[in-house]
Amino acid sequence: MPDGVAFPNKSAKAQRKPLRRERPTLSIRARLIVLALLAVAPLMFERVHTIEGARAERTAHAHAQLIELARRGADAQDQIIVSVRALLQMVARVYARTPFDRDQCNQYLTNLVGNGVPYIRALSVAGTDGRITCSIEPHAIGLNVADRAHFQHALHSREFALSDYLIRRLDGPPTMFATLPAIKPDGTVVGVVLAAINLDWIGELAATATQHPGASFLLIDGSGTLAAASTNLESFVGKRFADRAMVRAMLAHDQGALTGAGLDGGQNIFAYVRVPWTDARLVVGLDQAAVQADIDRDMGIGYLQLALIGALVLLLTWFGGEQLIVRPIRSLTRTVGRFGRGDLHVRASDERWVAEFKPLASAFDDMADKLARREEELQIANQHLDELASLDGLTGLANRRGFDRELQSAWQHAAESRKPLALMMIDIDHFKLYNDRYGHVAGDTCLRAVGETLSLVTLEEAVLVARYGGEEFALLLPGLDLARAAALAEEARKAIEDLMITHAESPSRLVTISIGVEALVPEKGLPAAELVEAADTALYAAKRGGRNAVVAHAPVPFSMAS
Ligand code: GH3
Ligand code: MG
Ligand code: MG
Repeated sequence: MPDGVAFPNKSAKAQRKPLRRERPTLSIRARLIVLALLAVAPLMFERVHTIEGARAERTAHAHAQLIELARRGADAQDQIIVSVRALLQMVARVYARTPFDRDQCNQYLTNLVGNGVPYIRALSVAGTDGRITCSIEPHAIGLNVADRAHFQHALHSREFALSDYLIRRLDGPPTMFATLPAIKPDGTVVGVVLAAINLDWIGELAATATQHPGASFLLIDGSGTLAAASTNLESFVGKRFADRAMVRAMLAHDQGALTGAGLDGGQNIFAYVRVPWTDARLVVGLDQAAVQADIDRDMGIGYLQLALIGALVLLLTWFGGEQLIVRPIRSLTRTVGRFGRGDLHVRASDERWVAEFKPLASAFDDMADKLARREEELQIANQHLDELASLDGLTGLANRRGFDRELQSAWQHAAESRKPLALMMIDIDHFKLYNDRYGHVAGDTCLRAVGETLSLVTLEEAVLVARYGGEEFALLLPGLDLARAAALAEEARKAIEDLMITHAESPSRLVTISIGVEALVPEKGLPAAELVEAADTALYAAKRGGRNAVVAHAPVPFSMAS
C-alpha cells in the first residue's frame, strides 16, 4: 500500500525523518582496533597479574632474606653460647675438684684458652665473695664482681647465666659475660667461673647487612636498649628505645617482620629474631624506599614492555586494516563511482582482489555488464522511438516533428556552406470535398499516393519529404536556388496531375496540388521560420491564384498582414 496516498500522516512523519540525528557508527578500522585490543586484553591482564605477582613475591623475598640474615646472626650466637657453656662446665668441674693454688689456676685457664677458643675473650674464676681469684688477665685478679647481676644470678640459681650486653662504644662490638657456679660433689659452691664472650660475629653481621644498599643492623637488648648497630646508626648505641612501638612489638614476639619508622625516622622493613639464651632481639632493617625503588624499576620495565606491545598491536591493526580492508573498499568505491559517472566499460575485475573481495568485485561486474547491456538496449529503443516519433503513420514520410528537426539542421548547414536552402509547401486542392465525396479511407489512399509521388519526383534533390499536417506536405531541397526549386515544383505538380485521380468535386475533375516555393541563403540572425513563412505565403498565393499552380517567392499579400 503506497504510504503517501493512503496515510498522509505517515508520509509527513517520513518527511521529518531526516531531521533525526543518526547514531554515529564506528569505522571498520576503529572496530578492528577494538577487536585487536579485546584479543590482546587477556594477555595484557595476565601480564599485569604476573607483574603484580612478581612485585608481591619480591617484597616477600626481601622480607625472607632479612629474616634469614637475622637468623644467621642468632644461630651464630647460639653456637657460641653452647660452646661457652660446655667450656665453663668443664672449668667449673675441674675447679671444684682440684685443689689449685692461684698460679696453677691461672696457668690452667691460660692453657685452656690458648689452645684456641676464639669466642672467649677473657676467662676468670671468682670466689663466692665476688673477688676474682684467678684469670687469664693478670690485671683482673682481685677485682670484685659481687655487684654484677650475672654473678649473683649464677651464685643463687646455681645455674649457667648470661649478662646483658655490655656496651663499649669505642671498642667495637658489645661484650657479654657467661657465668657458671663451681659446685663440689657435696653441693657446696666454691666459686663462679666467668667468661667474657667475644661477640665479633655482631660486627661481621653488621658488615654483611650493610653490604645491601639501604640496609641497617640493630641489636636491642631485653630492656629496649640499643646494644649494637651498623655504622649508619652507631650514634644511637647505648640509648633506650623501650617506648617505641616498633621496639615494643619486637620484644613481644620471638621473631617476625614489620614495616615502620626506623630509629632515624626513615620508613624501613624490619626482620627480627630473638637471640637464643637472651631477651635481646637481632634486627635487620632495609630502607623501604630503596627496596621499593628497586622493585618499582623492574615493574616499570614490565609495564613499559606492555605499553610497547599495546602500541605495536594498535599500529599493526591500523595499517593492516588500511591495507587489507580500507584500501580495497576505496578502490571499489572509485570503480563504482566511475561507472556511476557514465564510464560503462570500467570493471572491478581489472584489479587483483583478495579472496573475500572477489565475490563483491564479480557481483559488481555482473551488475555492470547487465546495466551496460540495458543501457545499450535503451539507447537503441530510444533511437527507435525517436524515429517513430518523427514519422507519419499514414504515409511513412517524416511528420511535422521530423520536419522541424531536419529544417534546423539543413538551415544550419546552408548557413555554414553559404548555399541556398529551398522549401516547397504543398497542399492538396479541395481535399475536404474529396473526403466528403469519396470517404475518409479513399482520402487516406489519396494522401499516400500523393506522398509517394512527391518522394519519387524529388528523389535526388529532396533531403526530406514530410507530411506537414492534414493534406499538406513540405519538401526540403538543400543547394537548390529558387529557379531550380520552382522547376522541380512544377514537375511535382504535373506528376500529381498525371496520377489522374478522379475528383468529381474539383473544377479540373482530378486531384491536384498547389505549391509555394521559397529558397534562401540563411543570413546571420535569420531564423528558419522565415523560410517556412515565405513558402507558406507563396502557397497561399498559389491557392488564391486558382489552385493547381506553383508560386515561387510571392510577395507578402497585404490582406494577410491585416
Ligand atoms: P483548399 O483547396 O483551400 O485547400 O481546400 P481544402 O478543402 O483542401 O482545405 P480544407 O483545409 O478546408 O480541408 C482540408 C481537409 O483535409 C479537411 C480534412 O477532412 C482533410 N484531411 C486532413 N487530414 C486528413 C487525413 O488524415 N485523412 C483524410 N482522409 N482527410 C484528411
Ligand atoms: Mg490545407
Ligand atoms: Mg487543401
